Amino acid sequence: VVITDVMPSSPRSSPVLSILYNENHVIHKPFGTSPENPERTTRIFRYFQGKKEVLGEEVELRVDFPPATVEDLLRVHQKEYIDFVRSYCLRGGGFLGDSTYFAPGTFDAALSAAGGAMKALEMVVTGTRRFTFALIRPPGHHAKADTYGGFCIFNNVAVAIRHVQENFGVEKVMVVDWDAHAANGTMRIFYEDPTVLLVSLHKDPKEFYPGEGFVHQIGRGKGRGYTVNVEMPEGAGDREYLMVFEDIIRPVYEQYSPDLLVGCVGFDAHFSEEMTHMGMTSQGYYDLVRGLSELGGERLALVLEGGYNWYNPRLAHTVVNAMLGRPHSFKEDVDILSSSVTRPEKVYKITRQKIKEVQDILDQFYRF
Ligand SMILES: [Zn+2]
Repeated sequence: VVITDVMPSSPRSSPVLSILYNENHVIHKPFGTSPENPERTTRIFRYFQGKKEVLGEEVELRVDFPPATVEDLLRVHQKEYIDFVRSYCLRGGGFLGDSTYFAPGTFDAALSAAGGAMKALEMVVTGTRRFTFALIRPPGHHAKADTYGGFCIFNNVAVAIRHVQENFGVEKVMVVDWDAHAANGTMRIFYEDPTVLLVSLHKDPKEFYPGEGFVHQIGRGKGRGYTVNVEMPEGAGDREYLMVFEDIIRPVYEQYSPDLLVGCVGFDAHFSEEMTHMGMTSQGYYDLVRGLSELGGERLALVLEGGYNWYNPRLAHTVVNAMLGRPHSFKEDVDILSSSVTRPEKVYKITRQKIKEVQDILDQFYRF
């Protein structure tokens, strides 16, 4: 009796999530000290490499993807600015103010960072992966069409959005950016464009970098109603961010009905980030990313912006778990509740008020 093995060779479970890491970012390093330094993402990537078993075959760590070309950048940035960055780096770079430094290799690192964001959006758009996480630096969300700023050289997510719009037929994209700082570069780039809807949740910029991203900035011309700025009070935490998710992000998403949802994640809204004084915990990151994944129909591209604290690797793992629908596996060993006994009610009330302001100013565009 010949027993033939009719069992189909069991397909190895293929990845559903790719982490895209631009290894060459290490050449973009400060001359002195800066919170935005290579350690930020090398630590996260090393952590993921050490967790390969835990992450399993569903998660792919990927370092090979093409850098953005100048043509890709030109969909967002002015030629003069791109030329300036290239030639300034060739001449050795230097510090240019607005917290931004250029190393000799910065131009190449920045092209790769933008390339990582492009690949992240492209893979989700084509259905190659359900989830992607562009673990890239330098970050991008403060960069405008014609200038750098706040550690950012090129606006990675904007370049990526134009890439999928131009080459993959994507029409409408919604971006939710919850870095502690306003996504002012992204806002400026798409300010008059109804095909990209930006919701930025950030610390009230009145006395905080970048000094714009106010509730009344809702877009211009055809873009009116497609920029949503939510000013979060100092100390805002999980409860406040999730309230914004339910009261603003969800209804706006449902009415805008984008082809693609992108999250710009900054780990600097975490309570451990001393220069921002916000109050999110990993649970908040988990819940927000889970909510965004569900909203996007279990499809989401995440792009890294800021975040400078020692929790970054575990927060990165948290957002990966959240996208995959795995349980939240990490809890901070600090009892933050006891450290803020009186603050929460006040912060909660201010947030309620801020949400109301956003809803009032946008009520000609959305039903809340
Ligand atoms: Zn930030």
